Amino acid sequence: MIEKGLLIVLSGPSGVGKGTVRKALFENNVDYEYSISMTSRSKRVGEEEGMDYFFKTKEEFEELIEQGELLEYAKYVDNYYGTPVKYVRETMEKGKDIFLEIEVQGAEQVKNKMPEALFIFLAPPSIVDLECRLKGRGTETEAVIQERVEKARKEIQMMYLYDYVVVNDEVDLAVDRINAIIKSEHLRRERVEMQYRRALLELEDDEI
Ligand code: 5GP
Repeated sequence: MIEKGLLIVLSGPSGVGKGTVRKALFENNVDYEYSISMTSRSKRVGEEEGMDYFFKTKEEFEELIEQGELLEYAKYVDNYYGTPVKYVRETMEKGKDIFLEIEVQGAEQVKNKMPEALFIFLAPPSIVDLECRLKGRGTETEAVIQERVEKARKEIQMMYLYDYVVVNDEVDLAVDRINAIIKSEHLRRERVEMQYRRALLELEDDEI
């Protein structure tokens, strides 16, 4: 029986450490695939095309939206971010789990389109801690940091959309918690029952 892969949405406020946690998660796990997003924001030092993001102009991005190429997208602090739908579909059909690391508006769109996905909210230990992390990163101006902190306050209020909340107090602990959630999720009765139902239907078809 081939189980369809899980769509795992890892989301949470900017600066909470989603990228760090996701990279740590992928270092030790060859079973997950990662969906590389598209963005219209400019490349940061050290970022690579096709590794961190697919970098697009605003016009290119708007064309992708129009052509229905994105599973979800959001305008975040004046830039577009979005998930190419094709890779997500193909990966799930192959029975592989696929990860999206996205902000909250995008997660809400995925929830509306694919409520069976697994939604994990990565939360900061506190708002003060989040502000310190954004400042420590040194990649944004003070005005952008304040805008992101304000956004984070609103995003934390959207926690109710998610199935699980993982506090990112320590990266290794957060990774362990996420792995445990995914393992249990594969054993959820609804998912296992679906595979059996499909297999039974195939058997019936063969018998006819
Ligand atoms: P950054 O500019 O720091 O790379 O990303 C800003 C925010 O956009 C982060 O919260 C990041 O998780 C989110 N993000 C990255 N890719 C996507 C995407 O494809 N869709 C959505 N909705 N958000 C994304």
